[in-house]
Amino acid sequence: MKEPIRIELPMLQPKMSVNAYLFLDPEPVLIDCGMNTDATLALLEGELQKHGLALGDLAHVYITHAHIDHMGMAGRLANKTEAKIWVNPFTLPWTRDLEKQWQKRAKIIESALVQEAPPGWDNPVLRGMNGFFKQALACWSEIPAESLNVYEIGETLSFGGGDWEVLYVPGHSNTQTCFYEKSRQWLFSADMLLPLTPTPAIEMKIDEPEEREISIVRLLDSFEQMKNLPLEKVFPGHGEAFSHHKQLIDAQLARIQMRKEECLRVIQRGNTSFFDIFEHIYPGAFNIFTLSMLKGYLDLLEIEEHIQIDTTEGYRKYRANGTTSQFPIEIQKTTDGL
Ligand SMILES: [Zn+2]
Repeated sequence: MKEPIRIELPMLQPKMSVNAYLFLDPEPVLIDCGMNTDATLALLEGELQKHGLALGDLAHVYITHAHIDHMGMAGRLANKTEAKIWVNPFTLPWTRDLEKQWQKRAKIIESALVQEAPPGWDNPVLRGMNGFFKQALACWSEIPAESLNVYEIGETLSFGGGDWEVLYVPGHSNTQTCFYEKSRQWLFSADMLLPLTPTPAIEMKIDEPEEREISIVRLLDSFEQMKNLPLEKVFPGHGEAFSHHKQLIDAQLARIQMRKEECLRVIQRGNTSFFDIFEHIYPGAFNIFTLSMLKGYLDLLEIEEHIQIDTTEGYRKYRANGTTSQFPIEIQKTTDGL
């Protein structure tokens, strides 16, 4: 069994890339497929050409989760080829009524932002997000029903000469699955295990789509699940393949703790609004990733009862329980892993 070929594809965010993986044998198969842009299509075609193949030779495309950078291109591929597109049950709604799903998620993100801002504040962050929502939807494509297939959690998929067990690992996304090849101890980790810490995405609960998922809690659970998995090599959704996933997980867990503690100190120093805290934790670096990360840290502080939320002024104000630092580590200058 040969290693998959990594194809690095562009994203909406400059300087960022997403991986699709190509197996040539026993038949051409893709794991994830990038966003629906001409640049992505050209790169996919170019990579296939290197191996004497055309787009039409693709037999299957397996999608790991319902995020634009991993599945945006799937509908366009389905329309251009005979390839079967495979998704998990949690991703299925995103193939059928993409706009509705995206609006639901946009609403969750929006209301998460609105409740953090003083009423009447002309929120530049919110305006920025609206632009992002529209831009994202334009790089997505619905998948025609006749090309669509659903794989189940726990099912074994055969591709690339291996047998891949489907693992459900929510946290980065409620729709996140990974594919695990037991005999080689290889994992397509998508955005569950990454060289940089995965973000706990702001999204709806599966069962209660009006409610925001507390993604960070699910992410921490999934990290524990992943730590117990014997792995030789991990093929992530972004960045290069790696080994030693347990050390990586430990480092990322330690980092989450450290950043959470930094947030608490910022609150203890009297910064009470989300956007004040944000400017201390991610100065001038507002985007969907930093927003999700900070929300995750604050969720943890709230769950662990280090902070209280006061909404009497019509938005969320954060106050520390007790006035002295409850964590021993000093503030350090850190580089951010997103
Ligand atoms: Zn991703």
